[in-house]
Amino acid sequence: MKFWNQESTLKSISQCKCPRCHTGDMFENGTLSRPYSLFKMKAKCDNCHQPFEPEPGFYFGAMFISYAFNTALFITVWVLMNMLHPEYSLLTLLITIGIAAILALPLIFRWSRSIWIAIFIPFEKGIRASKH
Ligand SMILES: [Zn+2]
Repeated sequence: MKFWNQESTLKSISQCKCPRCHTGDMFENGTLSRPYSLFKMKAKCDNCHQPFEPEPGFYFGAMFISYAFNTALFITVWVLMNMLHPEYSLLTLLITIGIAAILALPLIFRWSRSIWIAIFIPFEKGIRASKH
C-alpha cells in the first residue's frame, strides 16, 4: 500500500516515530508494570538526532489534540452504552467513561504529541544519523 510506507506521515504518527526521518522512536518502550514509563519521551531521535522537544512548552498545543481525542472517546463510549446497555444510569456512564479515559491515556498522550510535532517538523527523505 502506497500510503502506508516509509514516507507515510499517517503511519509515522500512528507508530509514534520521528517526524523528520520516520525511523527513530519518539518514546521509550513503556511497560504496564511501570505506568510512568508509558509517558517517557526520548530527548532526541536515535537516527537523525532531531530534538523531540524543540523548545520549552512545545507540547502545550498538543493538549488541544488530546482534548479532541477524549471527546471522540466519550462520544464512542456514550454511543456504545446506548446500543449495548440502554438502561444505564448516569453514574454507570461516568464510571465507564472514566475507566476508558484512563486506559486510553497513554495512547492519547503519545498520539497527540506525535501529531503535534508532525505539524511543525517536515519529513526529510533519506536523512541519516550523520546529518544534524
Ligand atoms: Zn529522526
